[in-house]
This record gives sequence, C-alpha cells and structure tokens, in this order.
Amino acid sequence: MSFSMMKPLPSPKEIQEKYPLSPRARKAKETRDEAIRKVITGESNQFLVIIGPCSADNEDAVCDYVSRLVKVQEKVAEKLILIPRIYTNKPRTTGEGYKGIVHQPDPEKKPDLAQGLIAMRHMHIRALEESGLSAADEMLYPDNWSYVSDFLSYVAIGARSVENQQHRLTVSGIDIPVGMKNPTSGDLSVMLNSVIAAQNGHTFIYRGKETHSTGNPLAHTVLRGATNKHGNAIPNYHYEDLELLLDKYEQTGLKNPAAIVDTNHSNSNKKYEQQIRITREVLRSRHYDPRIYALVKGLMIESYLEPGAQKIGCGQHIYGKSITDPCLGWEESERLIYEIAELC
Ligand code: PEP
Ligand code: MN
Repeated sequence: MSFSMMKPLPSPKEIQEKYPLSPRARKAKETRDEAIRKVITGESNQFLVIIGPCSADNEDAVCDYVSRLVKVQEKVAEKLILIPRIYTNKPRTTGEGYKGIVHQPDPEKKPDLAQGLIAMRHMHIRALEESGLSAADEMLYPDNWSYVSDFLSYVAIGARSVENQQHRLTVSGIDIPVGMKNPTSGDLSVMLNSVIAAQNGHTFIYRGKETHSTGNPLAHTVLRGATNKHGNAIPNYHYEDLELLLDKYEQTGLKNPAAIVDTNHSNSNKKYEQQIRITREVLRSRHYDPRIYALVKGLMIESYLEPGAQKIGCGQHIYGKSITDPCLGWEESERLIYEIAELC
C-alpha cells in the first residue's frame, strides 16, 4: 500500500470540547444566521458582502482584518450584512502549493493536520469572539464540516468541487446558506444540478455512518467566471449572464432563487483591482431589472490588509498580504463597501 497512515486526528467532538464557543458568540451567530437566511429567502432586502482574503493564512492578520470590518459593519448595518471570508482549505489546480491553514498551520513548514485543525478552529473562534461577525469558509472536504458546523454562517462549494456527489449530499444536511459555484468550465447546468441535489434530502454515508438529510432550501448559486479551452477567462457577471441564470432558475422551479457574484477569480481574471469595476457593474444591472435585483443577493470579494499577493517559500512574509489569489487592500475595500451600501 502506498499510503502511510501517520496518526489519528482528534474527533470533531474532542476539538469542540477543547475549543468551545462562548454562549455570547453562539447567540451572535444565531442572530446573524437568521438575518442571512432572510436575505436568501427574500424576506429581507439587505445585501450580503462576503469579503476577506483568498486564504486565511495567519490568525493575527485575519483577526486584525475582521476587527476593521466590524467597524464598517456598524456603519452600513441597515443595508449590508458583511460576512468575513475566513477560508481555511484551499483547492489547488494541480495539487501543488499551499492548501490552507488546516494542512499547514505555518505556511513555511510541512503539513501538520492535527495542529492545523486546531489552528483553524482557534482562528475562527477568536475572530467570532472578538468581532461578533460569524464567517464564511469553503467546504473542500465534506467530512470536515463537523469541525466547523457550530460557528460558520455561510459555506461555499468551490468550482472544482461542485460536481462532486459527496459535496452535494453533505450540503443537503447543512442548515445555513451554501453557495454552489459554477464549475471552471462555466456550465451553468452543473451548478444548478448541484443546487437541486442540495435542496433535496438524501440517504448516504457520512463519516462512516448511514446518514439521512432533509435538504437545504438555502443552497444557491455563485457566479465566478469560467475558463475556455485555451485557458482564457470568460466572465459571467454581465447583465446577459444574470438574465440567463434567471431564465434557468425559472425553468428549474428551485426554492429561493439566489445568486452571489464572485468579483475575483475568472470574473476579474485575477486582476484584483477590477473587482471595484465589476461590483459597480453588477449593482447597475440590479437596478436595471427588478428581477435581477431580486436574484442577486450579494457579492463575494477577495480583500486583505495589503493589496496584491506575495509568494511563499522565501521565509519573509508581508503581514496581511495574500499568499494565494491577489486581493484588494484594506483602504480600497473599505471605500468599496461604503459605495456598495450607497448603490445597492
Ligand atoms: C476561492 O474562493 O478562493 C476559490 C478557490 O474559488 P473557486 O473555487 O471559484 O476557484
Ligand atoms: Mn481565491
């Protein structure tokens, strides 16, 4: 056998008992879950802004970022719900590179998953305890949902996972909003089929047990742009793309039609500054057609303390600068959030 089984990992229950959430943080999450749920169901017309670094690589920088975000949240509370992106598992196109804090609690050192799970939970809980802002994370490994289920308020299924049955079935048992991204090919039917699967109940294997789920009516779509056969980026945030998604939603009869637009990745072609222009265009499209206004319930923006990105492996890191996809810096991000509050 070519696997080496290194060591057993602590169970979700063990980690939750060791690093519990305070009753105050639990309450903050529950209150926000309800507010976010109402946006997805259309009972509220607040707008979601899922914003933060591509990867949450450093607890201090992430908590610093979230502490700045909470001050902005207070000022835009009437219009916007800000959800910090605290992404702790990174999908890699070729399998190479930094796989997130769960794998590498220190990005310069070798993987250590036992320490990584603790570092992930510690960071998420500290950010929530200090700010009251419950966060979003990507569910890259469905089995790991049990390590984070008590504190997250939003989950994303990435472009490379959205066609996977275990992801879809696991989402069907989750009771918070889950955004299913379009695949890297851009095929909208893959994304919508994923939402259909997630909105229905299933019986399946989860963490070694026969498990039954009742379906997640809060599962919805996320447009992140695509790549063609030549590797060129094909954006899907334009008015016509939103109209197409609207038509497709109408044909499927899904519950709670909702879309989030990811302004980075193949929408910006990772030209991170373009996220500002893309945000403005999406908000304009919403105002042009009331059906698009109702469909597009938020934006996903990659942003950190410093603009751009840096390479790892050289031992020297710039504090608060992305080590994966390039991000907007704090000043532009803060300005952009105020602009969204004005325009949405
Ligand atoms: C991300 O959100 O950083 C990401 C990897 O997104 P996608 O799955 O759309 O590539
Ligand atoms: Mn990214």
